[in-house]
This record gives sequence, structure tokens and C-alpha cells, in this order.
Amino acid sequence: MSDKRDYYEILGVSKDASADDIKRAYKKLAIKYHPDKNPGDKEAENKFKEAAEAYDVLSDEKKKAQYDRFGHEGLSSGGFGGFSGGGFSFEDIFTHFGDIFADIGSFGGGFSGGRSSHNRGPAPGEDLQMGIALTLKEIAEGTVKKVRIKRYKVCPDCNGKGGSGMKTCQSCGGKGQVRRRMRSIFGEMVNVTACPDCEGTGEAITNKCKTCSGQRRVKTEDTIEVKIPAGVASGNYIKLRNEGNASAQGGATGSLIVHIEEKNDDFFVRDGQNLFCKVLVPVYRLALGGEQRIPTLYGEVKVKISAGLQPGTQLRVRGQGLPGYNSDYKGDLFVEVQAHIPENLSGKEKSLYEELSTLGQARDEKRERSLFERIKEFFN
Ligand SMILES: [Zn+2]
Ligand SMILES: [Zn+2]
Repeated sequence: MSDKRDYYEILGVSKDASADDIKRAYKKLAIKYHPDKNPGDKEAENKFKEAAEAYDVLSDEKKKAQYDRFGHEGLSSGGFGGFSGGGFSFEDIFTHFGDIFADIGSFGGGFSGGRSSHNRGPAPGEDLQMGIALTLKEIAEGTVKKVRIKRYKVCPDCNGKGGSGMKTCQSCGGKGQVRRRMRSIFGEMVNVTACPDCEGTGEAITNKCKTCSGQRRVKTEDTIEVKIPAGVASGNYIKLRNEGNASAQGGATGSLIVHIEEKNDDFFVRDGQNLFCKVLVPVYRLALGGEQRIPTLYGEVKVKISAGLQPGTQLRVRGQGLPGYNSDYKGDLFVEVQAHIPENLSGKEKSLYEELSTLGQARDEKRERSLFERIKEFFN
């Protein structure tokens, strides 16, 4: 069981709160516990992250519905679908809820946005984004995709140092940061930013590396493997730490964020974990009953057709849908039965159908008569 607090409780809203109420409640907490306003306050930091996590779920219709039904256990864990496994980082929060923080910035004036956690050292490399399109079969089974990626890597010649002959940076005295006093709506705040002269490293380089011109990183193109678990959906993303750009300042390497897209399928239509399809069944099989082969994402299954099964009937094939990304439970396949009427009958078939037609005439006339009588009543 999860020991996490209830998301509604965290944001202080009721279960039937509107999207606007949820956003407003989150914004209030984000301002109250913002790291710029509470420097070094671990409790505020945790509250800030906790609120972001709650907002991430409650602001997303799908996640909210999952959470309402199944609680914390209903939500994804482990590196995608939201935030990466190790919980929320400031960077995640600022990247993800940029619109909200843009709002806050516009009236607060004092927030440093996404860079706030990096003021105290060299800035990390940039995150990179890419999309991967998957077929339903790949989604059903999980897959490993090889992707080409252009990115900066740590310079192999200077090992990311940028050169040799390091001296202490004169501007910041080797601290890598400079302090400035600013006035804001919270009163006077000390704003600590990376030293512009040494870009936060605290060191000046006298002999710059020729390979990277002192940039500490070089452009490369690599092929990497992206492992995609079964059960993902459009809108999910996978965050691969340390697969983004190397830092130009000796900081941490950024992440590669892989956005999942689902390719349309000609045969199956997806709704969550369930799949829907239509299958043509020969008219004699519908009349007499029998077995029908149905293609699935995992191979094929045979379903029983009972005698007299009507077109439009939906058959349910359990466990032939999609797995969840955090469970082995598979959804179902719903097959809509359609009648296949033969064309180009052979002479023998034609005479048999004619015989059927004669045999069925009395019954069908009776059925049609009652239908016309019902319609007549309706109009009189
Ligand atoms: Zn170099
Ligand atoms: Zn400096």
C-alpha cells in the first residue's frame, strides 16, 4: 500500500472541485512553497514537490479518473507517464507546468523559474525531446527501438574540463556564483546566480582544449536503444536520464525525453486497454453456428458462433486487449459481428439459395406483415 497523502487533501480541494479550482489551489501552494521564497527549507521543498505531484494527477483527466477509482495504486510508476521514478525534481516541475510558472513569474517578478535549483553550480546540459511512433503490436508486447540522436557529449580530449591551466575565477573568487539583492513582493531577497565569467564553474581556463574550443562538449550523433514497456499510450513519455546534452559548464548531463505516439491501426481501434474490431462472418455460419477465426495482436483465436447469431452482435474475447503499463492484466477484444453476403454465386449455390428462399418465404412474409402493421398503427 502507498503511504502517500491523498492528492485532494494535499491541494485542499474537494473531490468535485473543478479544473479551475484545482489549478488555483495548486498555484497558491506553488507560490507559498516556491524554492525561491524558501531557500534551503527542506520541508517547503517537499511540500512544493508534493503539490506538483498532486496537481500533475488531478489536472489530467485520465490520471484523475484512474486515481479516483484506484487511488495511488492506479497510477503509473517507474519512469514514465508522468515523472520519472525517483520522484519529482524541480526541473521536472518547472518543465511540466511551465504555463503556471509563467503566470506566477508575471506577477511575482522574483522567481527564477526553471533554473532556480541550478543557481548554486554549473548549469546542466539541456534536455532533448523526441517522438517515437509505435504500432499497436509494439505497444502490446513492449519493444526496444533504436533511435539516432544528435547531441552534445562530454569532450573526450579534455574530459569535459575545457582545457588545462585552471585558475580560480577572479570575478567570483572561485565560488562559481554571485549574489545580488533584489526587491520583490516578498520583500528583499538575495538572488544567487551562476557567475557569468566562469559560467558557474569557479575556474578560468588558460589553455583551452582545441577539440571543443573550451566548450567542454562536442557534437555527436549516436544510435541508442530506447526500451519501451508494454501498455504505453499516446501522451506518455519516457525520461532517460543522462541521455540529453552534456553540460557546457561541467554540470550534469540533461535527459532525453521520448514522447510516445500511437500509429493508427487499420483493423483494431483502441479504447484504453480494450480493443475493438469488426469481423465478417459468412451468412451460413451465422445461420448454422460454428467457429470463426479472429485475428488478435497476439496471433489468432477461434470464437464460437451460435446458430442464429445476428449481425451487429458484439462478442467479447477476454484477455486479447492490451496490458497496462504497470500490470499484466490485459484488456479485452470486442468483436462486432458483420454478415458476409456471398457475391458471384456458383450455379449450385444459386439453386440452393433459391430453395432457401422458397422455404423461408412463409416465415418472412409473416414477419414483414407484423412489421408493416406496427408501422401503420404508429401513423394512424
Ligand atoms: Zn575538450
Ligand atoms: Zn566566476
